[in-house]
Amino acid sequence: MRLNEYTAHELLIKLKSQEISAEAIVLACFEQIENLDKDLNAFITLTKDTSLDKAKELDKTFSKDQWGKPLFGIPLGIKDTISTKGIRTTCGSKMLEDYIPPYDATVVEFIKTFGMVPLGKMNMDEFAMGSSTESSYFGPTLNPWSLDRVPGGSSGGSAAAVAADETIMALGTDTGGSIRCPASFCSVVGLKPTYGLVSRYGLIAYANSLEQIGPITKDVYDAALLLTTIAGYDPKDSTSVDTLEEDYTKYLQDDISSIKIGVPQEFLSEGIEGTDESVIKSVWAAIHKLEDLGASYIELTLPSLKYSLPTYYVIAMSEASSNLARYDGVRYGYRIEKEKDKSMDQSFSESRRIGFGAEVRRRIMLGTYALSAGYYDMYYLKALKVRTLIKNDFERAFKESDVLIGPTMPYLPFKIGEKIDDPLAMYLADIYTVSINIAGVPAISIPCGFKNGLPIGLQIIGDFFKEGQILQVAYSFEQNTAYHKQKPELS
Ligand code: GLN
Repeated sequence: MRLNEYTAHELLIKLKSQEISAEAIVLACFEQIENLDKDLNAFITLTKDTSLDKAKELDKTFSKDQWGKPLFGIPLGIKDTISTKGIRTTCGSKMLEDYIPPYDATVVEFIKTFGMVPLGKMNMDEFAMGSSTESSYFGPTLNPWSLDRVPGGSSGGSAAAVAADETIMALGTDTGGSIRCPASFCSVVGLKPTYGLVSRYGLIAYANSLEQIGPITKDVYDAALLLTTIAGYDPKDSTSVDTLEEDYTKYLQDDISSIKIGVPQEFLSEGIEGTDESVIKSVWAAIHKLEDLGASYIELTLPSLKYSLPTYYVIAMSEASSNLARYDGVRYGYRIEKEKDKSMDQSFSESRRIGFGAEVRRRIMLGTYALSAGYYDMYYLKALKVRTLIKNDFERAFKESDVLIGPTMPYLPFKIGEKIDDPLAMYLADIYTVSINIAGVPAISIPCGFKNGLPIGLQIIGDFFKEGQILQVAYSFEQNTAYHKQKPELS
């Protein structure tokens, strides 16, 4: 086995015994990237020289006392919406093609302080708007399981690179499913933390009331390690919650006899139109497996869930239209060249028309419409009220059960080009993921099956700040199944 094929927790044992060096792991990752990434296109920017320098420096300073730092010497990829000092951060957009942030996001500071080695910046849907990574200005990322299919999105580069062993782990962001969707489509683990657990300082905003940064990894153990590294109070983010620091690996126990699972009827029994039969079957099989392992389950109902997609898209687009107003070619972003006889307004609108892709422009217009006088009450304000109903549904559900279980995605990874020209069809892909962001609770997607060689993901949802509990259930499932061990065939 080559070093890039291991999980972080396996590599940490080898690093600790000094059997291998951090530099050797980084070299193995770059070898894989050089072999595969021309096709996969998971990276937008690579930082080979600085990554190798950093790894060498870590190898020199390596000593026993580094072991308070859980991921010392481990490489990772960073989604290109997270600011990295001195390294171009594009958000997958022409608008920010040449943007080099003058500061690091707090999560990047954390991973650097804790001795991790960034390898580069990961491809994504433009401004994180999408579920397929096809809207990137830098071209689509391909799914390592089937190169004619999408890897999911918007953190498709992060998930594809982890699945293809180009990196050991990666950071993604999740506004309405963007960590869990690509994790499901690429058969890796993706965790969206509780809103406020991980700092958003330095995350380029799409819809700030919904999004969180989180881990995309090869297994549940690694997700717990990376969450431990990035979670924590940050005075620079006013929505950051001052919780106790936790070591999430302590929840990785293979005993779930005290766990009561809630199965929302809206997710499985009633089924959502368009959900693939194989997805429903695999998720039920997973629930029965967890029952065999000692958990109990009840069916329950989340009646407001049927409003989650329109609620999400009204809120997300409204926030996006406001957040993206700063890209006008003057304060930030791409600016048209020949502007001699153009008015300021013409220059603004042309820079925005050329700098943004079609989906981003569509959302800015719809969001502006929903926020405009006369329509504000009818759309935005109404969506906020329904948001409270959805949140209340989750609160009620967590009085009756510890975790909720359902599918992550309604179907298997779809073909490249299949939905990109049909925005509504693309939005429908988020049917099982967006309600979690509306409520602000945590959720994880883990591999739970395959059909015709294509992955299926299981979603486990927890109550606020109960990441420990979802990790525990996920770990127990993983320890007793082998889906996470299957790898795509890549040369
Ligand atoms: N697919 C959803 C959207 O386009 C979610 C994206 C995300 O989580 N960043 O808004």
